[in-house]
Amino acid sequence: SSEVNSAVSREDLGRATWTFLHTLAAQFPDQPTKQQQRDVKDLMGILSRIYPCKECADHFKDVLRANPVESKSGEALGQWMCRVHNVVNRSLGKAQFPCNRVDLRWGALNCNEGACDLHGRYYR
Ligand code: FAD
Repeated sequence: SSEVNSAVSREDLGRATWTFLHTLAAQFPDQPTKQQQRDVKDLMGILSRIYPCKECADHFKDVLRANPVESKSGEALGQWMCRVHNVVNRSLGKAQFPCNRVDLRWGALNCNEGACDLHGRYYR
């Protein structure tokens, strides 16, 4: 047949997922509710089971076991996300990212006034 399949590479999937995860962390509240803290832990656990690259998911299970999610604050989550991304980087032979510069690389979603408020750090 003449089906067109613009297959997504493991690298594309990884970059998209890291964008999602670091943006989520950058926008996570300074003082998250218990529910928000639970949601992040659940999300990472679910990701380690259904991430659509089996080998990555299996590896990430081990990474999570050795590095339990830190979701007490947006700052803690952002630093944790950077550390676990660095664990994955190391396993792939990639350079370590300096986590003191994570806020320069990743920020809250750039969107119109008010549009990010729902789960945003800037919720008023
Ligand atoms: P990426 O690693 O995708 O990073 C994107 C951008 O994030 C970088 O350009 C940099 O600006 C920034 N960045 C880099 N490191 C950090 C950091 N520590 N903190 C904050 N920002 C940073 N691939 C495999 O081949 N095998 C695996 O087992 C595997 N497991 C993965 C598990 C998860 C949960 C995820 C999300 C991805 C996984 N990947 C895996 C994909 C891999 O991590 C990369 O996404 C992919 O190789 C593309 O790499 P990249 O060099 O383009 O940059």
